[in-house]
Amino acid sequence: MSFIYKKKLISPEELSSALPMSAQDVRRKKERDQEIRDIFSGRSDKFLVIMGPCSADHEDAVCDYVSRLAEVQEKVSSRILIIPRVFTNKPRTTGLGYKGIAHQPDPEKEPDLQEGLIAMRRLHLRVLAETGLTTADEMLYLEIWPYVEDLLSYVVIGARSVENQPYRFAVSGMDCPAGMKNPTSGDFSVMLNSCLAAQSSHTFIYRGYEVSTSGNPFTHCILRGAIDQDGQYVPNYHYEDLIRLHEMYAKYQLANPAVIIDANHANSGKIYSEQPRIVKEVLYSRSATPELAQLVKGVMIESYIEAGRQDISGRNYGQSLTDACLGWKESERLIYTIAEHV
Ligand code: PEP
Ligand code: MN
Repeated sequence: MSFIYKKKLISPEELSSALPMSAQDVRRKKERDQEIRDIFSGRSDKFLVIMGPCSADHEDAVCDYVSRLAEVQEKVSSRILIIPRVFTNKPRTTGLGYKGIAHQPDPEKEPDLQEGLIAMRRLHLRVLAETGLTTADEMLYLEIWPYVEDLLSYVVIGARSVENQPYRFAVSGMDCPAGMKNPTSGDFSVMLNSCLAAQSSHTFIYRGYEVSTSGNPFTHCILRGAIDQDGQYVPNYHYEDLIRLHEMYAKYQLANPAVIIDANHANSGKIYSEQPRIVKEVLYSRSATPELAQLVKGVMIESYIEAGRQDISGRNYGQSLTDACLGWKESERLIYTIAEHV
């Protein structure tokens, strides 16, 4: 039992200079980042819709999907800001199964981390170049951040990572909004403690250096539902949950209080087709209570071209390999519904 050092990987600096952002990408990213920060600071009352497949598994299908999102974004730009979910590194409950493009650039083949890192950066770059939309990704492996830090507009720390100090400290140095998910247990205080840690400054080990950070004031909460001791799903998107989070937030000294509601995962009980109903309920709760309209800054929706999921890669174009997703038609309709109600 030991580590076998198979190969030294390309460095973030080497990859970024091999696949650089264009001047237009850099400009677009700066503008989008300001618009997104304005939503979290309350300067803008646009609603965030973070939307895309559970895992960004195929470059062409993901770019096709995001180009559809971009067309809709044009039509709803006065009310909604869409951030495409381009999730390239996937946590798996048992560690088995497809682990994302950064791990397996070809889902049917063995992991290839070198090719995976290249495919991951190329995908984020291509989405931006083709659609003008900057992306959201999960940071499951913190080593991945420097490979895409210039490209991402939004970062998620997943339910299985949020309790851990290395993630919290790393987020404290990231210069884009970061959503801390509630842990699978559902404990709100774990999530809020995570926000507190990430909003504070820290000194720690990072990439072989002693580094210090100044804290990320745009770290906020994501509610994704929970699992109880009997393995049953317990949703946490209802009015009472949002009010409870609002009250707990008041006890923490946190900048920019905010929550994004993840409509899939333990909130939908993995029944993807429930997402429109869940989003509509959240919009209703917001409309009924000004404090919630302030606090709930957006939703996260798992959506792709083809509804549902598949086990075998490439059988159905644009269908999820991991969690089941809403199909394009329903997704488009849902964005217009959101635009009418925010
Ligand atoms: C996901 O966003 O696809 C995901 C795995 O989420 P969570 O960390 O909430 O399980
Ligand atoms: Mn998922």
